[in-house]
Amino acid sequence: MLALQIPMLNSYMTLKNHKKLGIALVGLGYYSKNQLAPSLLETKHCYLSAIVTGTKEKEAIWSKKYKIKKENIYNYQNFDSIINNDDVDIVYIVLPNSMHAEYTIRAAKAGKHVICEKPMATSSADCRKMIAACKKANVMLSIGYRLHFDPLNGYMMELGQNKIFGDINVESGFGFTLKDSSAWRLNKSLSGGGPLMDLGIYAFQAAIYMFGELPLSLWAKDTTIDKEFFYEKGIEGSLEWEMTFPSGKALCKTTYEEGLHSYIIANTHKGELKLDPSFMYDDLKGQTPKGKINIKNVNQQALQMDAFALNLINNTNTIVPGEMGLRDLYLIEKIYESASNNAQTIQLVDIPNILDLRKI
Ligand code: NAD
Repeated sequence: MLALQIPMLNSYMTLKNHKKLGIALVGLGYYSKNQLAPSLLETKHCYLSAIVTGTKEKEAIWSKKYKIKKENIYNYQNFDSIINNDDVDIVYIVLPNSMHAEYTIRAAKAGKHVICEKPMATSSADCRKMIAACKKANVMLSIGYRLHFDPLNGYMMELGQNKIFGDINVESGFGFTLKDSSAWRLNKSLSGGGPLMDLGIYAFQAAIYMFGELPLSLWAKDTTIDKEFFYEKGIEGSLEWEMTFPSGKALCKTTYEEGLHSYIIANTHKGELKLDPSFMYDDLKGQTPKGKINIKNVNQQALQMDAFALNLINNTNTIVPGEMGLRDLYLIEKIYESASNNAQTIQLVDIPNILDLRKI
């Protein structure tokens, strides 16, 4: 359920009922290759029908592995001609962050529904342009926020939002080590920022979905250890921030300077609600004051893409629309603003009003 009701789009009469919808993956790097494409072999309501790549060698490999028709293989130059391809209902943007806006807008102009990877863009201004382009083209836009479809994170949302163990205060974080200078994630013009853009977004998303509330204010501080390495690239190496919600506080951390760790801890007066690891694709582990959470890990990406296909088939709203991506870029900008102003407290008076509510 959304706090802000997104206006229903006009019906998608062009989509034949019960047809598996075709997805075109744009950008065949790590995430497409290892997660999305294999997951599209498990989805019930969509399948991989087309690819968009700038690397000639990938064409033969992918078309053989996923039985993709020759005419459904595009490059970045002829991408716009996808408008004429009825095998493609959805375009999934899996490119470096600063390319998300351009390709989302081009996909919308081609009349295709869009899933755009996180972070939605590198500025809230671009997010607004992407939302406007999709509205104008009457196509639906969703963000690749897979954890909203994960049952363990979903259970944590339910426990937190419904205060099953009373009021909560949250600690959440996501980090790994990244010191490879050739990585686009360390190139500000492609990434838009440091670990906050890439990983910290999960940490504050978790805080928001644990409370089921919008934060009222925040302060942030740059905690980079290797200043010489990261500042030369114009990005932070590590960052911490605190968000104040109507019913509690969240302390969040993100880093490219420590080993892989993702966690959500909600402190209650009855003990901890904990998911650690919390944001990985698999092997998430949870516990409540009553003991271990016994919920099986699932294929998050398959559930996420099937949910979007069903939104289109049934003409329902996505729980992770462009407006949520915009809210998160708004927060990223405020976090950076505070960090560059000596941890000044910033009131979030005009935060886009959207939540994934799991009230029971
Ligand atoms: P990647 O570097 O492995 O892949 C990026 C792809 O973009 C490559 O195929 C590359 O060839 C292509 N590309 C096109 N133009 C490029 C350019 N100018 N510079 C660099 N690459 C270019 O990256 P990735 O890990 O697959 O990440 C892609 C997107 O997916 C990012 O936005 C990232 O945040 C997101 N992602 C999301 C998740 C998730 O769990 N939701 C996980 C990983 C990545």
